[in-house]
Amino acid sequence: MPVTISRARLKALLAQEDDLFIKNHPKSKELFERAKASLLNGVPMNWMVRWASPFPVFVESASGAHFVDVDRRKYLDLCLGDTGAMTGHAPQATVDAISEQVRKGLTYMLPTENAIWVGEELKRRFGLPYWQIAMTATDANRFAIRLARQITKRPLILVFNWCYHGTVDETFITLNNGAAGPRPGNIGPAVNPAVTTRVIEFNDLPALEAALEPRDVACVLAEPAMTNIGIIHPDPGYHDALREMARRTGTLVIIDETHTICAGPGGYTKAHNLQPDMLTIGKPIAGGFPAAAYGFNEEVAERINANTDRDNADVGGIGGTLSSNALALAAIRATLGSVLTQEAYDHTIPLAERFTDGVRSVIEEYELPWNVTRLGCRAEYWFRPTPARNGGEAASATDSDLDRFMHLFALNRGILMTPFHNMALIAPGATEADIDYHTQVFREAVKALVG
Ligand code: PMP
Repeated sequence: MPVTISRARLKALLAQEDDLFIKNHPKSKELFERAKASLLNGVPMNWMVRWASPFPVFVESASGAHFVDVDRRKYLDLCLGDTGAMTGHAPQATVDAISEQVRKGLTYMLPTENAIWVGEELKRRFGLPYWQIAMTATDANRFAIRLARQITKRPLILVFNWCYHGTVDETFITLNNGAAGPRPGNIGPAVNPAVTTRVIEFNDLPALEAALEPRDVACVLAEPAMTNIGIIHPDPGYHDALREMARRTGTLVIIDETHTICAGPGGYTKAHNLQPDMLTIGKPIAGGFPAAAYGFNEEVAERINANTDRDNADVGGIGGTLSSNALALAAIRATLGSVLTQEAYDHTIPLAERFTDGVRSVIEEYELPWNVTRLGCRAEYWFRPTPARNGGEAASATDSDLDRFMHLFALNRGILMTPFHNMALIAPGATEADIDYHTQVFREAVKALVG
């Protein structure tokens, strides 16, 4: 008989953990009180109100897989800036390259030789021949979508239910009882995203066929495995079928590797030999410094060039003044060259396996109706007995109180999980002892819950 968790008990435990957090974080509390007078809701960026704790932890410094807060408490970081710091904090090679470039100027709106090194390396890693640099993954996705619309002359894009690709207007769409509409919480949408976008469930081939057959979709924008509503793997053969349907209907496939770069140095694309028309990536490629890239296959590059109006290149809606600045390119070169290497994955992927094994052993020991999944050096547990096959299934298993308790319990014992769901990303600086400590804390949390 799987255990059931008492809601009254959960509420009491949450109150205890809140008290413990407040008691142990006087300096963070003081800073938060001060911040409320000048920053909206006391934070510099609105997502930071969503941490499990009554106020956010203010950071003093970070290095490798750990950080220290202003109360001098040390944490194992399994959030890593939600992948921005997947390289580990302050990787030496990136820090050195940034320090050197800073003295030579930050931005010129002219290329440097580093740009060519980066283009060549991206080509080698992902197999796409041509590249452009942006500041954020959001921008890379926005630019890729614009180009897809431009060259296909089609109005719509297609995304998967509960996807996340950055603050791209077209992607804030979900299915609600089968009807497409704005995602809950979508702030000030320009238009109802149903005007710009088709949305279907991941792993649903008949729905994909029906959505692409009218031949009015410019591109499918997809994470190769979903990661933003839990890790959802594609069914066997799913990507082959997507590739075939897209080709047949003249639809471009854009693969967003921003999170799935956790699968290996060439992301999920290289590991599974996907053949996207375009690929986007941001977050960790410059070790946490803002930088992103988007690439094209030969045919797309030709079609873009045939459609390019050089006289209006600066006002066409692609690029940006600070995109591909010299500092970003120096940081990408150092990070791809010396940090996000095969050796790094050879260390972090076994640690993620150890994480999953540890969590699974506790789930089995306590007969919890939960499961744990993994993609490369990223792992996640979820409050449902089997892995979700699509965003709708995953979203319906969300349990906000349980989620907040697991995060806060871990935080109070020196472990930061990735917020919004129960995800752990493993940095090269982490050790087996770090992972075993997580398993121990996870067991304590479960023990407290089941009583
Ligand atoms: N693509 C994916 C798959 C993401 O997970 C995210 C952010 N979570 C983005 C794009 C956007 O990244 P950014 O916020 O750095 O623009």
